[in-house]
Amino acid sequence: MKSEAGYNLLITGLRNAHAMESQAREILERQIERTNDYPNVKAKLKEHLKETNEQSRRLEECLDKCGESPSVVKDAALATMGNFAALSHSIASDEIIKNTLANNMFENFEIGTYKTLIVMANNAGIEIKQLLTRSLREEEQMAAWVSDNIEKITLEFLAIQDRKAV
Ligand code: MG
Ligand code: FE
Repeated sequence: MKSEAGYNLLITGLRNAHAMESQAREILERQIERTNDYPNVKAKLKEHLKETNEQSRRLEECLDKCGESPSVVKDAALATMGNFAALSHSIASDEIIKNTLANNMFENFEIGTYKTLIVMANNAGIEIKQLLTRSLREEEQMAAWVSDNIEKITLEFLAIQDRKAV
């Protein structure tokens, strides 16, 4: 081990990332329940929920490779992502817009998280880059999808509001 401090920071980072993915799962499950008017969005959220579950599992594998017990992971605090959760929990007439913007933010937060973990893992000399990179690519694809669909979702939202107003 090159640096005790660096190793500890990596473990903390992996645990925080696991808590982030637990929060992601809750947000996605909630949004999937409430996205019936937007079947394309719903399908994409379901797809990313599967990826999110796999990302959680990968982080447990990373902790295992570090010699840490993955079972302790369940205790990780979820408080850090409270702001995102609150954003996506708001029930407003433009809920789909708010959720899309929250997802745009959340996916970019996840991208940053995996990028820092890859640097920390390399620094600590622990071979988990491949696992982390797989999750990073999924977050990048999801972030790109959300960003690329903001206009389309807004137009769908406006069309639905028009229909309701008639
Ligand atoms: Mg994720
Ligand atoms: Fe994600």
